Amino acid sequence: MEHEPERGIRCTMCFDMRFERTALYAHEHGFKVMTSCLGISRWKDMKQINDCGHRAAKPYEGLTYWDYNWRKGGGSARMIEISKRENFYQQEYCGCVYSLRDTNKHRLAQGREKIELGVMYYSNEEPAHVSENKD
Ligand code: SF4
Repeated sequence: MEHEPERGIRCTMCFDMRFERTALYAHEHGFKVMTSCLGISRWKDMKQINDCGHRAAKPYEGLTYWDYNWRKGGGSARMIEISKRENFYQQEYCGCVYSLRDTNKHRLAQGREKIELGVMYYSNEEPAHVSENKD
């Protein structure tokens, strides 16, 4: 799996695992609807995510996976607006060691620096430590 590309079978398994846990929690706590905002990222395959969500909810009677398209109606712009306002951390890779490896490989091929963990926030256009040095 480690050499699967992003949006490949490894990611399907990753989403399945997370949605299965979410569906179980929803079932155990009486929630009727579950959803995910993962698809708001342009790097993600919305169909892949929604398929995983529907698959996870299916075994539980009365539980629905809401496959709302969060990119519609300016959703991406709103996500960035809120992220900047709240100064959220901006993770520059998907989340696993393989995506970190592949993103760094891509960046190095473009003559960019490797990702520096823990320094990029939405409120900064550049890593926090760089803007701190400017003041
Ligand atoms: S963290 Fe992201 S890249 Fe890694 S397996 Fe999960 S969805 Fe795929």
